[in-house]
Amino acid sequence: MKLKSLEISGFKSFSDFTKIEFLPGLTGIVGPNGSGKSNISEAIRWVLGEQSAKSLRGSKMPEVIFAGSADRKPLNRAQVKITFDNTDHYLNSDFETITVTRKLFRSGESEYLINDQTVRLKDILELFMDSGMGQDSFSIISQGRVESIFNSKPEERRSIIEEVAGVFKYKKHKEKAERELQDTNEYLDRINDILRELN
Ligand code: ATP
Repeated sequence: MKLKSLEISGFKSFSDFTKIEFLPGLTGIVGPNGSGKSNISEAIRWVLGEQSAKSLRGSKMPEVIFAGSADRKPLNRAQVKITFDNTDHYLNSDFETITVTRKLFRSGESEYLINDQTVRLKDILELFMDSGMGQDSFSIISQGRVESIFNSKPEERRSIIEEVAGVFKYKKHKEKAERELQDTNEYLDRINDILRELN
């Protein structure tokens, strides 16, 4: 899986449509303070389903929409589209190119798309879960995160290792199966009670 491009419009400082192509090799983004470098990595996290406005340095999600500048009016919609080369089928999908789009309108409405088809947020999270690009993954490390990893509690560090090792998805499946098993046992108890009453 390779990151091919990122298209941003109306997200944070990117009022105009901006396309960044990631060519083979290393890509460095340079610019003066406040020019929007961190906003690019935040756009990647956002399009992949980030739900915490705080971790995007805001207090409410609509704050990611371009808020206007001295010579530009605020916009009503933020949109980010990310494209991956999936010819190695690293992501569990038959598609060789995968695009994920997220839109947020000032009204609070949002849209998620995979290859231009409307999907649920859950579908995006599942597609990237355990890929190393999922939520809370370590492929994007923001300023200050390194320290927080070193200072985290052993249990928190364990979940970091589980995510990196790719067992997080199975843990989630196990939790779901355990819940279903518990529900089934409760139904069985109820049936046994009814049977006892009938006898
Ligand atoms: P540094 O080198 O200091 O870390 P940077 O290049 O990473 O800076 P960012 O932090 O990505 O810069 O960008 C900050 C800029 O983005 C600020 O000028 C801020 O006003 C602008 N900005 C953030 N959110 C919005 C928004 N919703 N609308 C318009 N501009 C925004």
